[in-house]
Amino acid sequence: MFNKILIANRGEIACRVIRTAARLGVRTVAVFSDADQSALHVEMADQAVHIGGSSVAESYLKGDRIIQAALDTGAEAIHPGYGFLSENPEFVDAVETAGLVFIGPTATAIRAMGLKDAAKSLMEKSGVPVVPGYHGEAQELVVLAGKANEIGFPVLIKARAGGGGKGMRLVEDPKDFAEALSAAKREGKASFGDGRVLVEKFIASPRHIEIQVFGDNFDNVVHLYERDCSLQRRHQKVIEEAPAPGMTDEMREAMGQAAVKAAQAINYSGAGTIEFIVDGTDGLQPDRFFFMEMNTRLQVEHPVTEMITGLDLVEWQLRVASGEKLPLAQEEIKADGWAFEARLYAEDTQKGFLPATGTLAHLKFAEHEARNESGVRQGDTITPFYDPMIAKIVVKGADRETARLKMVSALERTEVVGTTTNLAFLVALMAHEGFASGDVDTGLIDRELDRLNRLGDAPDHFIAAAALAAIDAQRDVVSTEPFELLGLWAHWTAPKRVVHLMYGEESHELAVARIDDGKWLVSPYRDGSSPLPPITIDIVSNAGGTLRVQIDGIVTTMRTIRHEDNLTIIAEGMVHTFGLPDLSAADPEPGEISDRLIAPMPGVIKQINVKAGVAVLCEAPLIVMEAMKMEMTLTAARDGVVEEVLVLEGQQVSDGDILLNLEPVPE
Ligand code: ADP
Ligand code: ADP
Ligand code: MG
Repeated sequence: MFNKILIANRGEIACRVIRTAARLGVRTVAVFSDADQSALHVEMADQAVHIGGSSVAESYLKGDRIIQAALDTGAEAIHPGYGFLSENPEFVDAVETAGLVFIGPTATAIRAMGLKDAAKSLMEKSGVPVVPGYHGEAQELVVLAGKANEIGFPVLIKARAGGGGKGMRLVEDPKDFAEALSAAKREGKASFGDGRVLVEKFIASPRHIEIQVFGDNFDNVVHLYERDCSLQRRHQKVIEEAPAPGMTDEMREAMGQAAVKAAQAINYSGAGTIEFIVDGTDGLQPDRFFFMEMNTRLQVEHPVTEMITGLDLVEWQLRVASGEKLPLAQEEIKADGWAFEARLYAEDTQKGFLPATGTLAHLKFAEHEARNESGVRQGDTITPFYDPMIAKIVVKGADRETARLKMVSALERTEVVGTTTNLAFLVALMAHEGFASGDVDTGLIDRELDRLNRLGDAPDHFIAAAALAAIDAQRDVVSTEPFELLGLWAHWTAPKRVVHLMYGEESHELAVARIDDGKWLVSPYRDGSSPLPPITIDIVSNAGGTLRVQIDGIVTTMRTIRHEDNLTIIAEGMVHTFGLPDLSAADPEPGEISDRLIAPMPGVIKQINVKAGVAVLCEAPLIVMEAMKMEMTLTAARDGVVEEVLVLEGQQVSDGDILLNLEPVPE
């Protein structure tokens, strides 16, 4: 085993690797960017080396600096995590040239699977079923459109170098083919420096089922069963589980064998995943699964496999890379129970799942219900520089329903304040009856989006409790415990106070009056100032941000968190945030909003379609922006003439930046 390894990654996966290394007595070296000076992975490692600026290009993608850091600290091997340099064969070559061990497959194996077209040809030759399609050299529109017609619509266009759902377009109607092709090519070029694509049949009722494989340097390859990753949004996984619902012994055997065959075809060593797309029209059929791609690294969702097999995949990675044989033979690998993983993201599900940023004013995981894999702590900031994942919540139960209910409970007990998250969306998804019955496919989320995204309004008692908490805020006391002054206040102040609360677009004007020791009446201040009925509240206890109140004989435990000009109340699996408008001095900016094109989030300007003086129509695509993982086209809010363009292609912009000004069309 190694004495010391360097982890060329950040966030939860860096922390995950460090934990196993520490358990095995292997010392660890972290690397970090400017933005990650005090990140959790830096704190957890035995040593840490600063490698550059905040952007990934200046830090986590700087292979040479990372290798130098390993040499400087005496690390013998480099674990790449996932993303970043994990599937970069040039990096693997450089690591080996420096006399270090890459904890992963050989550069040759990565190259063989790196381009989807070449990988498909290789798999076809090795007898692994692949999706019908065209993965040849020709790239002209006429040829590819012709191939698409032969294959039959709907088809998928995929950047051959693609990953993370990028550079992929579904085309249902031949008339949309040309536009989709140029979009896929542009995205492929921008994200992977390769604009070439392949075209394949879009599988009906698609399910994404993948097989975890493991190889060593002694020609052994085993599989560790399947994971179902069908719950996806924009081709990105949201919830994963193992085993796959409806899996039969026959199908598992067929998929396991195909996966092992695929890995053997490239003499695979280390952890890898063979992703299959499965036609789920008539349940799972052993002749209806097709190779999509191989991920030659540890996968984000590896914990679900660990939960059902009881194995530590990072430990296996370290053992294999240090020259040991696979710890178990195929027949010794057992699985039991059911596991789920939910990816908790800082993102606004109401605004097209836009990645969000913010400082985590409060963060608490359900320690008893779940295994929580996170790279951030309370007080840390989710920046625009990296993937906005906050944590992976992982649970296991004896069967699917037990595990599912455990996940719902774990999610409901997870508290995140300071950024928008997809928590409520995840809860709705886990509770969805189609999902609950195991009826999953990759289109489920998009079909049910409106329903999954419907947020309930704050119940009256939340508003009343928020009014009590707001009193301290209005006294301008900066405190994370909004109630600490309430007791004092009772003794000396007037019997009634007026509180202003914003909830969504609604403004509430409430009167809070002390009736008795610990007993309060919250009511509308004057007619029409709030739809709330008068509510009598008993404060049972209040300490450490946890407030217990009794209303109509029912005691509720609420968590109350102050952050900036907001007050968040968490209780009963619900999270509601109220604005304290007296404190926020945000004046609306002068000028018509529709005159300006504003960046909805931090990102990079990819393409500018217009210049000053050009007349545009309402909805005209003006600027293409890329933000974290998606490309979005910003359009004109009305007819007008471009007055000035304030940004350049390639420029990094912040949330709220004005990108372009329009002026009215001259009469
Ligand atoms: P998985 O199937 O494991 O989710 P993905 O292809 O979606 O695999 O990517 C794995 C992870 O790598 C993603 O969760 C993402 O955070 C990260 N990732 C993907 N592409 C990039 C990239 N270009 N830069 C940094 N991280 C990336
Ligand atoms: P990436 O490298 O971006 O992960 P994949 O080829 O693995 O790209 O595909 C990502 C997702 O797109 C799959 O999980 C699946 O949901 C969907 N997908 C890919 N190929 C097909 C197909 N032929 N038919 C239907 N859905 C597909
Ligand atoms: Mg994939």
